[in-house]
Amino acid sequence: MALKLFNTLSRSVQEFTPSRSDRTGLYCCGPTVYDFAHIGNWRTFVFGDLVRRTLEFQGHAVTHVMNITDVEDKIIKRVRETKSSLREFTGQYEAAFLGDLKTLNCLLPHHLPHATEHIPEIIALIEKLIARGIAYRAADGSVYFSIEKYRGCGCTYGKLLKLNFDEMRAGERVKSDEYAKESVADFALWKARVPEDGEVFWPSPFGEGRPGWHIECSAMSMKVLGESFDLHLGGEDLIFPHHEDEIAQSEGATGKPFVKYWLHGAHLLVEGKKMSKSLGNFFTLRDLLAKGFTGREIRYLLLTAHYRETFNFTLEGLSGAKSALARIDECVGKLREIIGAPGTAPARPDASTEPQRAETVLGAPDELFTRFSTALDDDLNISAAWGAVFEWVRETNRRLAENSISSADATAALAAWNKIDSVLGIGTAREVEAPAEINALLEARQAARKAKDFKRSDAIRDELKAKGWIIEDSPKGPKLKKI
Ligand code: AMP
Ligand code: ZN
Repeated sequence: MALKLFNTLSRSVQEFTPSRSDRTGLYCCGPTVYDFAHIGNWRTFVFGDLVRRTLEFQGHAVTHVMNITDVEDKIIKRVRETKSSLREFTGQYEAAFLGDLKTLNCLLPHHLPHATEHIPEIIALIEKLIARGIAYRAADGSVYFSIEKYRGCGCTYGKLLKLNFDEMRAGERVKSDEYAKESVADFALWKARVPEDGEVFWPSPFGEGRPGWHIECSAMSMKVLGESFDLHLGGEDLIFPHHEDEIAQSEGATGKPFVKYWLHGAHLLVEGKKMSKSLGNFFTLRDLLAKGFTGREIRYLLLTAHYRETFNFTLEGLSGAKSALARIDECVGKLREIIGAPGTAPARPDASTEPQRAETVLGAPDELFTRFSTALDDDLNISAAWGAVFEWVRETNRRLAENSISSADATAALAAWNKIDSVLGIGTAREVEAPAEINALLEARQAARKAKDFKRSDAIRDELKAKGWIIEDSPKGPKLKKI
C-alpha cells in the first residue's frame, strides 16, 4: 500500500506521489520566536517530525525546511515592551526552541531559514508581484497584495478555504498579519516604517519598512525548495489567512503551482479547554519538565492521537504515558539481555538447530513491521500503529515468559523495533553506557582503520556485533549503540 495523506487542497485523502524522485521538499511553518513554544505548538512540530520520519522510513530523500519567524507584529510589540534589540530578543527564544526540539527528539530540519536573513529575497518577490500588476503601493508607502487583480488574472483566491466573495467589501485593506476570513481583504506584503517599529526596519525600493509575515514564508520556502515543491505543513489555524496568502503570493509571482500537498494538524486542548494563562492550563515544555515529566513521555503522548483530531492533553494522560513506555522498555530490555548475555540466559532453542520454531518466532517482527507500515500509509493512522506495537509487546512478553526466543529471534525483533522507532522516535529509557571492554574494542577498530588495516577493523566490528554492539559512524565520529 502506498502512503495516503489528507490534502487540504483537494479536501480528500490522496496517494502521495512525489513530483521528483531525488528529493521531496517538506516545509513546516516554524515558530514565531516571541515567547517559549507551548504544548499546542509542540503538537504541530511533533506532527511535522512524524511526517518527515514517515517519508524517510519509506525511502524518500526529504529536504525538511522550517523557518524561524524572527520579525512580525507580535515580536515588534514585545521588543518595544522589553526595550531590547530584535536579535537579542528573538535569539533567546530561538535557542529555547531548538533546545526543546531536541528534548522532544524531533529531527533537526535540514534548513532553518530566518526571515531577517532573507530580506533581499522578500523584496525581490514583492517587486515581481508589483511588476505583474498584482501588488500595489498604498499612500503610506506600504505594499499590498491585490486580491481583485489576482482573481482578474484567472487565479483562485480561496484554494484551501471556500470564501464568499459576495460578502467582501471591495477596496478594503488589512495591515495586520492576522485577520478572520470574514474580513478577507488586500493584505500587506511590505509594511512602511512607523514610529512604533523602533529600530526594526530595512531599506527597500518601496521605502523603509519591514515584511509582512505571509510573504516571509513564500520567499524562504521557494528559496530553499524551488518554485514548486511537495509538502507544506502547519497547524489548522494557519490555513487562513497565512497559507491562503502564501499560495496567492507564490503562484501570483511564478505562475506555477506552489505546493502539491497541504497538511494541517488539528489543535490541542488542555484539560478540555483552549489553553489560556488565566485558566492555568497553559503549558510550555519547560513547565511540564518542571513537573517531573520527560520529553520522551510528552512526545509519546502527543503521538498517540491522529493528527486530524483535536487532542485533549491532560496531566493524567502524561502519567499514563509513563506506564505505556515502561512496558515497551521492559520488553526491549529483555530482548537486549538475550543478545548481550547469551551464556547466562537459560537454554533456548537456537535458530540454527530448530529452524521450524525459529521461523514462527521470527514471524512476529515481520508482522509488526507490516502492520505498522500499513497503519502509517493510511493517512498516518497512529492509533493502529501503536496497536501493532503493543500487540507485538504482548506477544513478545508471552514468548519471553515461555523462554522460547533465541538470540537470532531477539536480534531480528530488535532490528524491527529499531526501524519502527526511527519513525516514533521514542528510543529507550536510558541509553546504555558501553563497558570498558567494548570501548577498548572501538578504539582498536579506530586504530586499525587509521592504519588502513580494514580486514582487522571489519573483524573488530563483527566481534562488537557478536557482543551486542554496533558502531554508527556519525559526523562527530563513531558511536557505540546497543543492538
Ligand atoms: P506560532 O509560533 O504561533 O507561529 O505557531 C507555531 C505552530 O503552532 C503553528 O503551526 C500553529 O498552527 C501551531 N499551533 C498554535 N496553537 C496550537 C494549538 N493549540 N494546537 C496545535 N497547534 C498549534
Ligand atoms: Zn509560514
